[in-house]
Amino acid sequence: MDGELCLQITGTGSELQGVGRAADGRAVFVPGALPGEAVRVRVTREATRFMEAELVGVDSAHPSRTDPACPHYGMCGGCCAQHMDYALTLELKRRRVCDALQRIGGLEVPVRPTLGMANPYRCRNKAEYPIDGRDIGGSARRGRRVENLQDCLLQHPSSVAAMRETRRWLERYAQPALKYLVTRVAQDGSLMAVLCAQGAVRGLETLTQALFARAPGMKSMYLCVLKSRPAHALDGTCRLIRGEELLVDKLLGLEFELAPQAFFQVNREQAEALFTVAREAAALTGRETLVDAYCGAGAIGLCLARDAGQVLGVELIPEAVENARRNARRNGITNARFVQDRAERVLPEWIAGGLRPDVVTVDPPRKGMDPALVQALRRAAPERLVYVSCDPATLARDVALLAADGCFQPQWAQPVDMFPWSAHVETVCLLSKLHGSHRA
Ligand code: SAH
Repeated sequence: MDGELCLQITGTGSELQGVGRAADGRAVFVPGALPGEAVRVRVTREATRFMEAELVGVDSAHPSRTDPACPHYGMCGGCCAQHMDYALTLELKRRRVCDALQRIGGLEVPVRPTLGMANPYRCRNKAEYPIDGRDIGGSARRGRRVENLQDCLLQHPSSVAAMRETRRWLERYAQPALKYLVTRVAQDGSLMAVLCAQGAVRGLETLTQALFARAPGMKSMYLCVLKSRPAHALDGTCRLIRGEELLVDKLLGLEFELAPQAFFQVNREQAEALFTVAREAAALTGRETLVDAYCGAGAIGLCLARDAGQVLGVELIPEAVENARRNARRNGITNARFVQDRAERVLPEWIAGGLRPDVVTVDPPRKGMDPALVQALRRAAPERLVYVSCDPATLARDVALLAADGCFQPQWAQPVDMFPWSAHVETVCLLSKLHGSHRA
């Protein structure tokens, strides 16, 4: 741990950190360093097979290195890619998908250039600002306190205004029960604010008045009373304090009702881009049976329902299934059914019972698909399988399993930048049935 190390950065890690090699061959992960750069670092952690280091200086900079646009960059845990221009983040995300497919899946799949945003700022429609005493702000980096945030370039100005009003209120009403302020902004600028607390809150009416008076678009104020050990910012019971019960947002011409805890994509513009790619991949003609597994509030299935004969959605969380059904009714969609169950439990049952979907979309959480579902899809052998993934590593693993013995043929992968300036990348991968292939 003593002194500085000179390092040549040769690649990037899954957090878009630079990666170089120490003299003994161990990989060294350096947040803030870019491939091709010669840097000086200080080692902060040594493990048997790798090291972590902080950047001390850059001796030869990558041409795409830039000054971060956000003054909180490096302190706030929200972004990790503002030291490079946007084009390079898109390319590094594409490479992550290529590398995962090659190294983990052993697959050669054409990976298209990442679909980016024309303006990758102010693009999130949901914010979760942690509260700690009088501080409110960005997600704290490992081991650091909540950063007292002035602005967040990813958030809508109304959300930032609500966060600032809440800080002003905290000067008088800071109390240990307060944990988060959550905001949602719909396409028309309507704002919902949820104060999340462990127990009763003093001064709530004062905050409600301030937000309705000074946060543009303010439509709805909720209090969320959290469980004693909440798993996330809204893990509790929500009560409407003032205003409208629901926000209404739009995606590809459909309306979606948003209760505080409803599931919805956080970047509307890129969700539309993603679903447009999924629609291209599904190539529906109006007659097909489409299964939408891990369907959440039904966004993918509903956006594709107009082009399909029927849609069957499967989702684990009962509230999300209820949202999906409401959203179908709200949009007059009558050919979509939503079932609450584990995809890996119910689909093998349906398929054993004779269901033969023409097209399947899957959008699993980061851990990817359950092996039982992979097996069931190999048996069902739909014409097309559209895999929407938020983790290239599990995508690669699952695509390799689906493609084994020539069951499915991966056609292409399209990365989409849903979370600009973070390391996350969404990918749509199209797999087609190989005709004449056996059913496993
Ligand atoms: N396609 C959705 C979002 C999917 S996110 C949309 O665009 O809104 C992944 C979803 O998978 C979550 O809603 C999660 O609750 C659900 N899920 C997780 N494990 C599951 C399982 N085993 N079976 C079915 N759904 C599951």
